[in-house]
Amino acid sequence: MSKKFILAIDGPVASGKGTLAHLLAEKLDAFYLYTGAMYRGLALYCIENGIDVENEENVKKVFHNLNFDFSGKSIVLNGEDVTEKIKQPEVANKGSIVAGYKSVREFLVELQKKIGFEELNKGRIIIAEGRDIGTKVFPEAQVKIFLVADPSIRAKRRTAQYREKGIEKPYDDILAEINKRDEADTKRSISPLVPAKDSIKVDTTNDKISDTYEKVLKILKEKGFYD
Ligand code: C5P
Repeated sequence: MSKKFILAIDGPVASGKGTLAHLLAEKLDAFYLYTGAMYRGLALYCIENGIDVENEENVKKVFHNLNFDFSGKSIVLNGEDVTEKIKQPEVANKGSIVAGYKSVREFLVELQKKIGFEELNKGRIIIAEGRDIGTKVFPEAQVKIFLVADPSIRAKRRTAQYREKGIEKPYDDILAEINKRDEADTKRSISPLVPAKDSIKVDTTNDKISDTYEKVLKILKEKGFYD
């Protein structure tokens, strides 16, 4: 079926959004918009250029130095493939700090809308993943999924993902980091992580990724977006 639509996938850190979105994008030949990469990319730019992320005024000054390219499989920032660099824990944590600034959200949400609608208008299916896709970025998305999973399971998954990348970090530290990021994401005054009213909650706690993938394909089938 080549019906264009937007699939919004939101959820907390390490709930399985990224892996799910990747698999679905391949299956549906969709354009995959990983919005967390933008917050992380902004944080990476600040780290590499000595800009204090605690200072919103300074962070604001760099917006127009950022040029993202999502056209391929990698995340390209200012001509450099930063796919691996942005996965570092320091980048994730600083990404979460800059994500709390109103100016940052206004700038990046506009950019996300622009990229998404350009691709949609080319006839592509859009799979966008983040924290506020169903509520702020694409409130008109035809299908909205909100992933949830117990923090202890998410910490286990993240520990394994880091290990695969050669990053050794104790489970307890990762769990503490996840709780801290959850707190920052859900309690911030602007665009907190909340399920959109019309979202479908999918609990991935006891899932293998293939289970979650099948659950979401089933939802798409029921809604007439996959056969
Ligand atoms: O999804 P990911 O963990 O890569 O996102 C990094 C950080 O960016 C998150 O902890 C969150 O604070 C922020 N973020 C956000 N809104 C989005 C995507 C990510 O606030 N749409």
